[in-house]
Amino acid sequence: MKIGLTGGIGCGKSTVVKLFADAGWKTIESDAVVRGILSDSEVVQAALRAHWGEIVFLSTGEVDRKAIAAIVFRDDAELIWLETLLHPLVRAEWSNQLAAEPEHDWLVEIPLLFEKRLETEFDLTVCVISSPDVVEARMVCRGYTGAEVEQRRLRQMPLQEKAQRADRVISNTGSLEFLKRQTIRLIAEIQA
Ligand code: ADP
Repeated sequence: MKIGLTGGIGCGKSTVVKLFADAGWKTIESDAVVRGILSDSEVVQAALRAHWGEIVFLSTGEVDRKAIAAIVFRDDAELIWLETLLHPLVRAEWSNQLAAEPEHDWLVEIPLLFEKRLETEFDLTVCVISSPDVVEARMVCRGYTGAEVEQRRLRQMPLQEKAQRADRVISNTGSLEFLKRQTIRLIAEIQA
């Protein structure tokens, strides 16, 4: 079984990923794949240097992800350039991992699953939803401003539309315990 997991920013996707991992599933998170590519790929680092110069590198030589975020979140053209560079590499990474162990159960978290029309790659799609005010409160606790959360949300397909496209929806407006119960029940149903 291959599941594509999506949902809005701060809706609880990573929390659901951990619950699947606890249940023995192999899991991949897009953000972690991006972090790996930025830190390991000399080709990508060379492209970043050619495009933006040293401002997107720390004095240690590592890629400065905060500097990149600051650039792409105020300029759509820069975001498109970065996505065009990274998305094929991210997709190749999870595709290869899944192909290497096709018998295993996999959960791949992809925030832009529907926007990038990747749903056909999976047996089942799951969307984690929550309400904007709950998400904002949780993300502010994580150090984001309300404006930053809103800016990121506006770049995605409306959450309601994602939920309508998904095979299954997990609602994360209550406690963590409630989220856990729903996810464990979903895993049991899928495995039955
Ligand atoms: P996403 O991966 O979708 O961005 P996360 O799973 O990282 O979202 O959740 C965002 C933040 O909200 C995290 O700090 C997480 O611990 C917290 N969180 C998620 N679900 C709940 C919940 N039901 N109650 C309280 N905090 C939650």
